[in-house]
Amino acid sequence: TGVRGVAILGSTGSIGTTALRVLARQEDRFRVAALTAYGNAALLRAQADRFGPSFVGLVTPNGGADDAGWCTGPACLVEAATRDDADIVLNAVVGAAGLDATLAALRAGKRVALANKETLVVAGELAHQAACAGGGEIVPVDSEHSAILQCIAGRPGQEVRRIVLTASGGPFRTWPREKLERATLADALQHPTWSMGRKITVDSATLANKALEVIEAHFLFGLPYDRIEVVVHPQSVVHSFVEFVDGSVLAQMGVPSMELPVLYALTHPERVPDAGVPPFDPVELGPLTFERVRHDAFPALRLGVEAGRAGGAAPAVFNAANECAVALFLEGRIGLLDIPRAIESALAALGGAPAGSRDALLAADAGARRHVTDRFAC
Ligand code: NDP
Ligand code: MG
Repeated sequence: TGVRGVAILGSTGSIGTTALRVLARQEDRFRVAALTAYGNAALLRAQADRFGPSFVGLVTPNGGADDAGWCTGPACLVEAATRDDADIVLNAVVGAAGLDATLAALRAGKRVALANKETLVVAGELAHQAACAGGGEIVPVDSEHSAILQCIAGRPGQEVRRIVLTASGGPFRTWPREKLERATLADALQHPTWSMGRKITVDSATLANKALEVIEAHFLFGLPYDRIEVVVHPQSVVHSFVEFVDGSVLAQMGVPSMELPVLYALTHPERVPDAGVPPFDPVELGPLTFERVRHDAFPALRLGVEAGRAGGAAPAVFNAANECAVALFLEGRIGLLDIPRAIESALAALGGAPAGSRDALLAADAGARRHVTDRFAC
């Protein structure tokens, strides 16, 4: 049959539940082959009952996996990602914890529909090697990268001069820098245009998310950093721009919903009919505006792009320091502006760490987390 199996890693999260909403409408094309979650056993059980996957994995079974046949522990991610009945692996895990599953899926020749951008930031080169060795491919789920792919797909021979990633600017877009010092967790979690998991919501508030996305774009599209730019676009309707060598600029637009980029990552280069996204009404969406990034207020963007340019372990250190600092911020133990401070400090100490292998990168990752915890956690 033409029905393709999809393994969803992180099925209980924001992207995971969005994907299951999409797949429920597309059951003649896709079948859920595997589901994994971290600790939310109740939702995972409900999803398994509804979609009937052949594999269910729970990373941390609090109080024991009551559910017969569930795989438990961190290894369940790689198992889910390499199953014979999964043609596509949607990696919607948050953080560097998704790395091994992405690499294993690529080595096993799968399409990886990648929401877990941290994978490419930590180990973009290794992911590329794994794809070459195993015949797998990465198709981005991130809305900006999906937009870029949709603008360049099917245009062989049309050379890209530059890409411009759009950024909503987050809840602090107009806040003066002094006021950011007093920004609370509640302020940071009020994202103006997207509803997402807590970690990426904080990343959007500091613009660390856009730094991760610049590095992600570098590895996905093979462009040098001086041909990747960022512009603030508060309405989140233009999902990114591609400028070709003749100066023509294409953009992909749509209402802010992750359903479309999730579905496109499954069907690329084809499109299939889908009723999920509401009709596009440019008048209703209102004026579209664009602004420069305020780098003074959002230093995490520049720090991340510099780490990307430096290469080696620097992007992994940037990512790990950010993950650790965001976790501390979510626990109320540091302030918002301590996040870029922690990143800067970790990069200064560990940015030049060895980077030749997965183990070296994960050692740099662990070192950065220790550095941030030792110096910034009160
Ligand atoms: P959520 O926090 O909502 O969901 C994360 C998912 O991963 C949950 O299923 C969670 O399980 C699971 N998980 C968490 N930690 C681990 C771990 N250590 N090992 C294995 N599984 C784990 O995140 P989002 O869905 O918002 O984001 C997921 C990824 O997609 C991130 O990389 C994010 O940057 C990216 N992304 C998200 C967008 C969005 O709109 N949300 C947009 C673009 C990219 P449990 O529920 O059991 O804790
Ligand atoms: Mg994005």
